[in-house]
Amino acid sequence: MIRQIRDAACDLLSATYAMYFYPDKPWLATAHLENLVTQLSRGGYRESHPLATALSPEPQLALSFSGEEDSDKESAAFSSEEFIYTSSLLGAECSEEYSFLLPLDFSRSASVLDRLRVRPQQKSQLTDELLERLRGIVNKGDPMTRYTKFVQVGQGGFGTVYKAMDPASGDVVALKKMPLRKRCRKELLVNEIQIMKENRHPNIVNYIDSYLVDEDLWLVMEYVDGGTLTSVLVQVLMEETMIAAISRECLKALDFLHSKKVIHRDVKSDNILLGMDGSVKLTDFGLCAQLTSERRTRCTVLGSPYWVAPEILKRKEYDTQVDIWALGIVAIEMLEGEPPYFKESPVQAQRLIARNKYPPLRMPSKMSFLFHAFLHSCLDTNPRVRWTARELLEHPFLQTAVSLSALPEAIRIARKICKGMEAIHASSEKSYK
Ligand code: ADP
Repeated sequence: MIRQIRDAACDLLSATYAMYFYPDKPWLATAHLENLVTQLSRGGYRESHPLATALSPEPQLALSFSGEEDSDKESAAFSSEEFIYTSSLLGAECSEEYSFLLPLDFSRSASVLDRLRVRPQQKSQLTDELLERLRGIVNKGDPMTRYTKFVQVGQGGFGTVYKAMDPASGDVVALKKMPLRKRCRKELLVNEIQIMKENRHPNIVNYIDSYLVDEDLWLVMEYVDGGTLTSVLVQVLMEETMIAAISRECLKALDFLHSKKVIHRDVKSDNILLGMDGSVKLTDFGLCAQLTSERRTRCTVLGSPYWVAPEILKRKEYDTQVDIWALGIVAIEMLEGEPPYFKESPVQAQRLIARNKYPPLRMPSKMSFLFHAFLHSCLDTNPRVRWTARELLEHPFLQTAVSLSALPEAIRIARKICKGMEAIHASSEKSYK
């Protein structure tokens, strides 16, 4: 009984924590509350709630938290019943990893919680080492003096994005200011900068510079002026021919990254930026991973809940093919305005992704045969059968693509609709007052 009260309190605390630190991600808090309600309606928390294991005298398996990804092979066979939402403490440790489903497996819970156990001592060492590594990569100086005309253009989970001008060249740039103390997995920051620096491509938001000022990391990138793909697809219904054009550009970026053995791991419409010149660019390398000849696969569970590939949820080893699954979900987003299962909570959505063979479509009869074929090629639950980026670039669906010169008009229409909606909203708020 005491354990159950403690576990419920833990979820309540986590929800409060999420509401306070992540007001822009309301579903984080909702997921904790949902877990609380689900557990209570089931008649109580299960024995192996993560906190329960955290407080048990001896962890079952000691795994050090070196800041590197797990290298232990996780072979837990998936069964939806074996999964439990475990972000109460894990969420605090890895808050940028959104929501988690982990097997109800004691050794696994212990390994995760063992990390928390050793955290205070290792965290400072990790930070010093990472700061040292970051200093070796970044430029000296202060971007606030180097650039002028700062205007805030975006607020992400990891930092604030500004548009600014480089007076020396007259170029407009985007600067992302990321407070280090807000990041838990700081090693991913080094990753983000290093991978962006080394991989330049017309379909990737290219790296320009980076700075470390006090405890803030500044990432200077090329500025993309049309906003995110999300901002367009939530307002404008896209024709299949436009979906083919945008998918082709994303596939060029993925083919390039995958040829360099880089997994993006967070492909979604929010991370695809559109230019008013018709360009399509993949951004946000905050979760990406570099595979090597020694490490051809990964097993850390991360990504955004609705786009995550089933093999990640089933805790199998995975590779670049997870980005292809996510791209298939982006294609559905462009068609329907949101990813499959978006009305469900992240936890339930992940369950459904892991359980179902193929995501449900709203109006499959309205889609062309080629589009169906393309989606099936991206969304095969078996990553070995799923087509690669190189193969998909040859897919007949992409031959139907319109010219990207039609894209700026779609962006303009979406902006107009958005402004109109804002005006209606503002006037209704006024009359309400
Ligand atoms: P986070 O990774 O912290 O969530 P993002 O990188 O997604 O942050 O950036 C947040 C927002 O800032 C984006 O949704 C986008 O509107 C804007 N943004 C990011 N990078 C650029 C860029 N290079 N050019 C223009 N706008 C950008």
